[in-house]
Amino acid sequence: MTVPFQVNDPRAVIEADRAHVWHHLVQHKPFETVDPRIIVEGKGLRVWDITGKEHIDAVSGGVWTVNVGYGRERIADVVRDQLVKLNFFAGASGSIPGARFAEALIDKMPGMSRVYYANSGSEANEKGYKMIRQIAHKRYGGKKHKILFRERDYHGTTISALSSGGQQERNAQYGPFTPGFVEVPHCLEYRAQWDLSGEAYGERAADAIEEVILREGADTVGGIVLEPVTAGGGVIPAPEGYWQRVQEICRKYDILLMIDEVVCGVGRTGTWFGYQNYGIQPDIVTMAKGVASGYAAISCCVTTEAVFDMFKDDADDPLNYFRDISTFGGCAAGPAAALENMAIIEEEGLLENTNAMGARVIDNLHALMDKHAVIGDVRGKGLFCGAELVADRATKEPLDEKRVQAVVGECMKQGVIIGATNRSVPGYNNTLCLSPALIATPDDIDQITDAIDKALTTVMS
Ligand code: PLP
Repeated sequence: MTVPFQVNDPRAVIEADRAHVWHHLVQHKPFETVDPRIIVEGKGLRVWDITGKEHIDAVSGGVWTVNVGYGRERIADVVRDQLVKLNFFAGASGSIPGARFAEALIDKMPGMSRVYYANSGSEANEKGYKMIRQIAHKRYGGKKHKILFRERDYHGTTISALSSGGQQERNAQYGPFTPGFVEVPHCLEYRAQWDLSGEAYGERAADAIEEVILREGADTVGGIVLEPVTAGGGVIPAPEGYWQRVQEICRKYDILLMIDEVVCGVGRTGTWFGYQNYGIQPDIVTMAKGVASGYAAISCCVTTEAVFDMFKDDADDPLNYFRDISTFGGCAAGPAAALENMAIIEEEGLLENTNAMGARVIDNLHALMDKHAVIGDVRGKGLFCGAELVADRATKEPLDEKRVQAVVGECMKQGVIIGATNRSVPGYNNTLCLSPALIATPDDIDQITDAIDKALTTVMS
């Protein structure tokens, strides 16, 4: 494909970036000798960097975000029209796209009822935590205030979101943390903590949550936050049996079930929301990245009517409302873009495509397992897939970070951008991440897995 753009003086842009931009999540020393990567344009599943090199993006904008792909003029058009008409009005007022998107969203989430707008995943989760805490104060005199979170899960970057983070590398050196968050064990059967498998493993991992509740005192635990599929912590879907048991435990102890759909939400796992794969009914659901595929900044904290009611049932109490605001939760571009994003997913049958293409990724990775002993486990749901790399299949010793990064680098040389999970548990940043846009074709999927095949051959020989 020909390069679709020309950048005036690319060197000046690179040097401005090198001199003044502080990039996310990266050690900057290497940029003293290596140019930072600057992505200039995208179309469909492909992006071009400032040097004119074309890449297939197998990570949807680096962080599982651009679900409907790049260059969607119809989203840009509705955002432009909305901004010209009304860009922003915050506080207690609503907007036309805010009302329309909330209605469309709730239509996809049976049992849910109210949409609270914010702008990032971390912020949406903070809203959920504040709701759980305020309910604890209103109904239980503040005692039932603890919130459980799971080892390896991640819920955002603010201090309270990190306080609910099960990833040691993200948390180190940022304490002291917000009190009242308590960790429960992960549910990764490949790295089993109990000598069981399948459904029995899933139920046992859920029972471990109950053990923590009983240890802490059920009258002190008000909520639990969980990713439907753990993302950066290792691409971990729970085994059968897990979610039903988690829901039973929450109901038994009157604990609010909060599902963090920041990555899984809006189609990524082949259903509108990840939790819908498991037939459960949460009380609070948060979402961000794929909600508008990165065409505008928007996140949502969605609740049941029962949760919402607790903030309005006593209008004489001056504290009985959600005393919270998000300034840019009032930006009308977000829901306008989100509504169009949802229409595209529906009109183009992208949930069906996600299931079909996700199955193809898993089949291709399984085929690679026969050839490359370094692949220890393959897992995923929809177009959210991972391959865990090990130095030894028998001992499951994780492949060292240098070689995992070398595999990512070799794919990059071939023009395919893949990801690797972070150091959630020291030494376990060893899972390759594949999460292309939901528009991926069979040919795209094969190109991505072919690149991994070649990269593994190069790095492991
Ligand atoms: N929750 C999950 C599961 C995430 O993966 C992330 C970010 O990667 C967040 C929350 C935080 O979202 P944000 O970076 O928009 O604050």
